[in-house]
Amino acid sequence: MNEYSGWSLTDRPTAERIVSALRRMDLDIRIMHVCGGHQDTLVRHGLDRMLMDIGIEIRPGPGCPVCVTTQREIEEAIHLARRGLTLTVFGDMMRVPGMEQDLFTLRGSGADVRMVYSIDDAVKIASAHPELEVVFMAVGFETTAPSTAAAVAAGLPPNLSILNTHKMTPPAVEALITMGEIRLDGFIQPGHVTTITGLGAWEFISLKYGIPQVVAGFEPLDLLMATFMLARQITMGLARLENEYGRVASPEGNLAGQKVMREVFVTGDAEWRGFGSIPGSGLLLAPRFSDIDARRRYHDDLAELDGMDIREPPGCMCGEVLRGLVYPDECPLFGSVCTPRNPVGPCMVTGEGSCHILLKHGAGRSRDS
Ligand code: SF4
Repeated sequence: MNEYSGWSLTDRPTAERIVSALRRMDLDIRIMHVCGGHQDTLVRHGLDRMLMDIGIEIRPGPGCPVCVTTQREIEEAIHLARRGLTLTVFGDMMRVPGMEQDLFTLRGSGADVRMVYSIDDAVKIASAHPELEVVFMAVGFETTAPSTAAAVAAGLPPNLSILNTHKMTPPAVEALITMGEIRLDGFIQPGHVTTITGLGAWEFISLKYGIPQVVAGFEPLDLLMATFMLARQITMGLARLENEYGRVASPEGNLAGQKVMREVFVTGDAEWRGFGSIPGSGLLLAPRFSDIDARRRYHDDLAELDGMDIREPPGCMCGEVLRGLVYPDECPLFGSVCTPRNPVGPCMVTGEGSCHILLKHGAGRSRDS
C-alpha cells in the first residue's frame, strides 16, 4: 500500500495531484496507446510533452483505422470506382493517396464516389437507385464493425455489396509485443473499443506477456489517471488489466453488438499497413454472406490488381509511425512535402492520424525542446 492506493475512480484526484504523484515516482518508462482519440487529447493539451518531461514517454501505435488500411485496400476501392460502380466511403478515405490519385480527385474526374456517414446512407442510396451497383467500403475497428454487421444481418439491397476492411485491435497489440521492435512497459487501451468488446478482450495481453494495461477514456484527466494507474503497476511490478473508464466500459461490453458481429463476421488473418498480416485480426464476412462480398462479386475486375506492384507512397514512414518506432516529425516529409492539404500518407489525412494531429496541435514545437 502507498499513499495513492486509496485513490478512487469516482472521487478522483485533481490533475495537479496526479502529476505531482507521478513526479515523485521518479519514472523512466515508455507506454503506448492504440487510439487516435487518445493521441488527439495528449497532443492537443500538451500532456505528451509534460509527461515526457517527468520520465513517461507515451507513443502512439496503430490506433487509426484509416491509417492501417493497406495500399491494396485503397487501390481496390479506387479500382471499383474507376470501373463505373458507385463507391460509398467515409469522408476520411476520400483523401487517402492511392498510387496515382485519391478518391476525391477521382470523383472530380467523373467517378461516382459518394461520402457517407454510415452504412445506412449506403443502404439508402442503393435502395433509391436500383439501377446503380453500389459498394460500401467498410473501414474501422470494433467500434464501427457492429453497425456494418447490423445492416448486413438486416439484409442489404441486392445492388449493394461490401468492400470489407474491418479489423480488431487486440491482435495488433499482440503483434507489437511479439515483433519486439520497441520496449514497451505498458499499454493504455481504448475505452470506446472496450465498450463494445468488454474488458475480456484485453486480458490475455497481461496474462500471456506480463504487461500492465489500463483501459482509458478520452478526457485529459482520464489519460492522466490511466497513466498514473499504469505507472503504479509498473513500479509495483504488477501486470494486470485495470479499467479507468468504468463509467462506460464494462467487463462484458456491448452484448448485442458482439452478438451481431458473431452472426456476420468470422475472424481471420488481415493485412495492416506497416505490419503485414496479423493473425486473427480480421473481421471477415462469414461464408453465408459471400454474395455481398464486393471482392467476390467483382472478382474479375479486381483480379487486374493481382499482377500489379502495389507500393506505399515513397518516403512515407506511416508504417514506422504506426508501430511506434518513430514520431511523425522524424519523417523527412513531415510538414514540408506532406501536409493535411497535400498528404503523402494516410497518417496525415485523418484527424485520428498521428501525423495530422501533431501538425495540427503541436506545430512548431520540437521534441528536444
Ligand atoms: Fe507519411 Fe506524411 Fe506521416 Fe511522413 S508525415 S509518415 S509521409 S503521412
